[in-house]
Amino acid sequence: MAKRIAVVISQGQSNNPAKRQLEEDLVTTLMFETGIDVTVIPNLYDLRGDGTGMLALQGIKGDMIVVSWLFPRAAHWTLDRNGIRGHVGASQLRTAGEDDDSDALEESGDKPRVADDLEIPDRTIYCVPLRASDSVADFVDEIKRIHHENSVQVMQIDLGGATAEQRARFENPTNDTALPLDNSSGNGREQHRGSGEANGSGNGSARATTSRGPAEPQRNEAEAGRRWYPVIDFSRCTNCMECVDFCLFGVYGVDVAETILVEQPDNCRKGCPACSRVCPENAIMFPQHKTPNIAGATDSSGSMKIDLSLLFGSPDAVDVAGQERDEQLLLAGRDALAVPVHAQREEADAEEEKDELDELIDELDQMDL
Ligand code: SF4
Ligand code: SF4
Repeated sequence: MAKRIAVVISQGQSNNPAKRQLEEDLVTTLMFETGIDVTVIPNLYDLRGDGTGMLALQGIKGDMIVVSWLFPRAAHWTLDRNGIRGHVGASQLRTAGEDDDSDALEESGDKPRVADDLEIPDRTIYCVPLRASDSVADFVDEIKRIHHENSVQVMQIDLGGATAEQRARFENPTNDTALPLDNSSGNGREQHRGSGEANGSGNGSARATTSRGPAEPQRNEAEAGRRWYPVIDFSRCTNCMECVDFCLFGVYGVDVAETILVEQPDNCRKGCPACSRVCPENAIMFPQHKTPNIAGATDSSGSMKIDLSLLFGSPDAVDVAGQERDEQLLLAGRDALAVPVHAQREEADAEEEKDELDELIDELDQMDL
């Protein structure tokens, strides 16, 4: 009686036949695996908070495996911004050169991070990247590994006081006195329902899946088209507000606790990743951007283990960001600022220093020395 687990397959944005085939083959294979409830959704990143796809995910309360074309970090924080929270589960399937960022996602390091104050429910969310392999078997093996790992944990908790014999019987039941599960004989008994609610797994799926034979996945139809907006990694974000000051399209805002949030995501200019270059912590992702570091990869050769400031928040990077923002201002029919961002910053810093100097002189005047 292994714990059940919800597996969410997030489809890609494009209609690439090879990608569609991989997704469908994975769904079909998982239908024959026991203990797994499969949900298929359109691209996770495109879902709206109040759409049926996101509501289906919000209804899953237990551990969850999310298989998507997004980098795991991007998938995790896209879920988080929609209130779907959990501890980070490490996936052993990673794209070439990508690190296991599960610790980095939860450990904030030296500076205080926004994630330090987030309440994380007692559940684990595993984000598995579809770009890590083109073999269905690799994904099935990884999903079974995670499922097994979770089931063993549950058994260790539930069977703490059991004898070796009881434990062996529990792990390998030989229930030859059980009534047949087949309902076709017309005896009126309901088939065993394998949903989380029925068997206590707590994954919250309202779907009835049989423990034998293929279990139909829950499918959610495509919602309104592609979207483009920033996703914040709160395990890195220090709430410095650089992004709010930089964006001139009203995308960012703050909540009642004065914490940064992406308030008007659809105000963001399609294809523009400007503010991700300005963020000093590389906390802003554009999950559909073609550059892995901007899309949420955690590639040690990319920068994270070396010095992020060499790439992000450096004068060169912020000037590129300024040019990108100017382009978007012009496209929107507005005036470009046409001043390098690092020059604006130097001017602001100089202004601040001048203010401080003025205050000091005022204080000295008041002391009447
Ligand atoms: S610039 Fe980066 S670190 Fe600063 S508030 Fe924005 S997302 Fe957070
Ligand atoms: S990419 Fe541009 S428009 Fe979008 S949030 Fe960043 S600065 Fe604003």
